[in-house]
Amino acid sequence: NSTATMPVIRQLDDSAINRIAAGEVVERPASAVKELVENSIDAGATRIEITYADGGKTFIRVVDDGCGIPAQDLPLAMARHATSKIDGSDLLNIHTFGFRGEALPSLGAVGRLKITSRPKGEEAATISTAGGVQSAVKPAALTSGTVVELRDLFYATPARLKFMRTDRAEAGAITDVVKRLAMAEPHVGFILRDASGGGAERVTFRADPENGDLFDALHARLRKILGAEFAENALLIDAEREGISLTGYAALPTYSRGSSVAQFLFVNGRPVRDKMLVGALRGAYFDFLSRDRHPAAVLFLEVEPTRVDVNVHPAKSEVRFREPGVARGLIVSALRHALAQAGHRASTTVAN
Ligand code: ADP
Ligand code: MG
Repeated sequence: NSTATMPVIRQLDDSAINRIAAGEVVERPASAVKELVENSIDAGATRIEITYADGGKTFIRVVDDGCGIPAQDLPLAMARHATSKIDGSDLLNIHTFGFRGEALPSLGAVGRLKITSRPKGEEAATISTAGGVQSAVKPAALTSGTVVELRDLFYATPARLKFMRTDRAEAGAITDVVKRLAMAEPHVGFILRDASGGGAERVTFRADPENGDLFDALHARLRKILGAEFAENALLIDAEREGISLTGYAALPTYSRGSSVAQFLFVNGRPVRDKMLVGALRGAYFDFLSRDRHPAAVLFLEVEPTRVDVNVHPAKSEVRFREPGVARGLIVSALRHALAQAGHRASTTVAN
């Protein structure tokens, strides 16, 4: 009977759209932490405190001392495709982590989200949302900056909840995200606390305001994050080619690892996992390491935003270079040069 199955095309409502989009942006608690901490960095914070409970599944709070959000903008901050960071006319020229205006509405669609904020010289205000329904903006108490709380992630999508791993695994993923961002921002202080563990600090990366030099600050931070052995075996990298700059630290071949766990690559301050860049890193050490060893390095590529597309994926860990050959060549030559300077000769003649 043909009358029963006529399909109907319907426009989805905002809350359904947000929940679908949220799947792209927020896969697990660590991705929520990443979005919130990136917002704090974009807001110019110098100190960011992250607290979570139950691996972030029931509670995530990010407190920063950044520029804050004016009370009248709070409803907009939670609205889809609303951002203060670009005006839409130049999607290729992005200097901030955020630009899509997707994180907060997505988080508000999959958890209970509350934002309290106070820009300098203004009153504090708060707004909350649950199931995509916004509360009114209310007065609040806060000295300055922004506090974002996210409770009960995926409470409305039990299918999603099931995909989360143990509290320990999720907590580990949160710690990794914070470490990566802490490498990229050595002048920002980070404190990460596990509220279920009695509020114990998991990691603390103090900002070192007396230390103005970025390389010194980075070296000190890498010592804290990757350990003294990495720091003592790390060669300073500072090179440039055709307007692309490469800075950071790369470890001597003697400090190689059995896997790629100690490879951290950033493009314009953004942590990326990119095959081309990882391949270039491998290529640089090719003559210095046997095939089962992996180099350790923390490298920052800086390129004019118009020459790299960070728009490839909402989670933004992939990038696309206009001239991939330049980035690749720069990594290979700068690292080879540093290794040669350090007196490491190629070991290809050694039989294995
Ligand atoms: P995006 O970061 O892509 O702009 P978000 O949904 O993450 O989108 O945030 C929306 C807007 O809310 C931001 O553009 C910014 O104006 C404001 N905002 C979010 N978090 C903060 C924060 N911690 N401090 C100041 N402003 C913030
Ligand atoms: Mg954002």
